[in-house]
Amino acid sequence: MIYLDNAATTKPNLAALEKAKTYLTEQYFNPSALYKEGYTISGELKKARSVLLSKIADETAFELVFTSCGTESDNQATFGFARRGNAVTTAGEHSAIAAAFAELKNKGIAEPRFAPLEQDGRVNVEKLLALVDEKTSFVSVMHVNNELGSINDINAIAKLVKQKNPRVIFHSDGVQAYGKLPFRLAKEVDLYSISAHKLGGLKGVGGLIKRKSLTLAPYIIGGGQEAGRRSGTENVFGIQQFAFAAEEKFSTLKADFERIKTLRETLWNGLDQTIFQRLSPMDGSPYILNISAVGLRGEVLLHLANDKGLLIGTGSACSSNAKTRYSKVVLACGYNEQVADGVLRISFSSATTEAEIAEAIGILNEIGRDLRKRMQ
Ligand code: PLP
Repeated sequence: MIYLDNAATTKPNLAALEKAKTYLTEQYFNPSALYKEGYTISGELKKARSVLLSKIADETAFELVFTSCGTESDNQATFGFARRGNAVTTAGEHSAIAAAFAELKNKGIAEPRFAPLEQDGRVNVEKLLALVDEKTSFVSVMHVNNELGSINDINAIAKLVKQKNPRVIFHSDGVQAYGKLPFRLAKEVDLYSISAHKLGGLKGVGGLIKRKSLTLAPYIIGGGQEAGRRSGTENVFGIQQFAFAAEEKFSTLKADFERIKTLRETLWNGLDQTIFQRLSPMDGSPYILNISAVGLRGEVLLHLANDKGLLIGTGSACSSNAKTRYSKVVLACGYNEQVADGVLRISFSSATTEAEIAEAIGILNEIGRDLRKRMQ
């Protein structure tokens, strides 16, 4: 099997699993317990928090709240801060933000505003800024687009937004960026969502990085864990495994970035370009290559590839339950329905090999040519 759907999820880091196992089998104590075993676990959580946070942020200015996933982090940010007036986001967001913004309207909390995209999948910054006014309470702009891999310069955008309205709370969904792009958070970014399972961690573990001076109204209340910001007994095993996996991922981040960029270009150059059109920009995240087999159905190709042992996606895995046939993000980039219908998302991890890329090229060209012949 060749697994090239790593933007949907990645294989858990097995060495990190092994290292974290003790938190399931021996050190399984509740971190809030008052005896010393509990206290020790609480100290271990503190270390994991520091590892994860320090990779991208200044620990004197930011802190990390553990959540159950990237979706929860995005929802917590939106419902915690879009509380009046209007809230601005982009037409390219993952459903964790897009659906939360729709809910702001349904519940009459705030007026949602959506900034259009450029053809390469980045937000049109000028048009985004035009939507920000004195009544804007919250702005959310994703860091790396999960369908196209396009990168928004969120530090620069946050700065421009704050120049227009300094009271705005600025959030970014960093789920596809964390551990993959060389990056550090600027002080103008107030909130940043991360998720473990995109870089070798487990599904069901996430975090919301927040500026320390910001008061977070908790979305989940109860026992007051996470300093009252997110109740619920912490997933100690999952968090430790996340920290161990992140430690490894960040130690090879730059080398992986360059190597995967080369693999992405090798794949693209090997594809039959009379069949496939490239939608991902050259300067996007190297981890994602979005292509369209224009005139063919991406979903059919996905199943044909699956039969040959190649696992790829058609867009956001989280939208595969949605009723709409076409990717809203691809349409928002200005492509027509025929292009949107042919979309395939191929996404890499640090474990992807050259041999896998060579085999994937052969399979994609073969199924693309076969299907085209059948359609003629
Ligand atoms: N945001 C982006 C950009 C994503 O790609 C994903 C997952 O696909 C999420 C949020 C949701 O993260 P999780 O699966 O941890 O809820």
